[in-house]
Amino acid sequence: MSQWIYLNGEYVAKHEAKISVFDHGFLYGDGIFEGIRIYNGNIFKCKEHLDRLYDSAKSIMLDIPLSYSEMERALIETIRKNGMNDGYIRLVVSRGDGNLGLDPRRCPKANVVIIVEQLAIYPPEAYVNGLKSVSVSTRRNIPDALNPKIKSLNYLNNILVKIQANLAGAGEAIMLNAQGYVAEGSSDNIFIVKNGVVFTPPCYVGALEGITRGAILEICGKIGLPVRIEPFTLHDVYVADEVFFTGTAAEVIATCEVDGRVIGSGKAGPITTRLLEEFRKIVEIDGLKVNG
Ligand code: PMP
Repeated sequence: MSQWIYLNGEYVAKHEAKISVFDHGFLYGDGIFEGIRIYNGNIFKCKEHLDRLYDSAKSIMLDIPLSYSEMERALIETIRKNGMNDGYIRLVVSRGDGNLGLDPRRCPKANVVIIVEQLAIYPPEAYVNGLKSVSVSTRRNIPDALNPKIKSLNYLNNILVKIQANLAGAGEAIMLNAQGYVAEGSSDNIFIVKNGVVFTPPCYVGALEGITRGAILEICGKIGLPVRIEPFTLHDVYVADEVFFTGTAAEVIATCEVDGRVIGSGKAGPITTRLLEEFRKIVEIDGLKVNG
């Protein structure tokens, strides 16, 4: 199947879609992005993703050359052109082409790219058996350096964490913040369940305000599961009844072993499983319809 990439207002064949080596996203990681899912023609939580994109842009003083509604139309058009009903959208806005200095004033126009791809997700059994995870020594960026709430193109912090997880043979990593509180996974938010209460760290601890995290918090409210958004430590993770990660690609996935400690029954627990079920009920409904 041919694949069309949205590149600054044009649709370009995959192998022709090129960005300059002077783009500051390439040279400095200067830019922002979103990862979005389409489920049966529904762009899941489209508004929430675009809100986060435009908030990240404002925070780093990046002018997105498309209005909000133009961006929505570009997303829909790219999905239609690729004939994709289900998949993953990568929306990237980089600072644009400049010179070798880092000054963003040398980049007159942002580059906007939209890629729609099939998604390589975890196999179905991973949602039952869970992932093995490890805590890593690399700490989450502190909010007054590069704020983890900004979904920037600078993912080196997360990549170093992923390398540590890979070396340990683990599927996910648990990142702590500088004070030793649990922040998030390498590219997912984290939740624990203890005695029927669902806990997740507040974003000020050092976590992205995940859209899936938000959806899970909403579902907890709807089905009457008590939630506490408060900092916790690795000890709390080790002794939790259930631990799971949330993210656009991963959805809701349990981790059944953390640093060699078996969590709960050693498989995805009842609350994680219920939340995944409830989550999958809304993914085709809550969002923006491509053919709406
Ligand atoms: N944290 C980080 C660092 C991420 O990159 C992501 C996105 N994969 C998440 C959390 C989860 O966010 P979302 O649910 O919006 O995908």
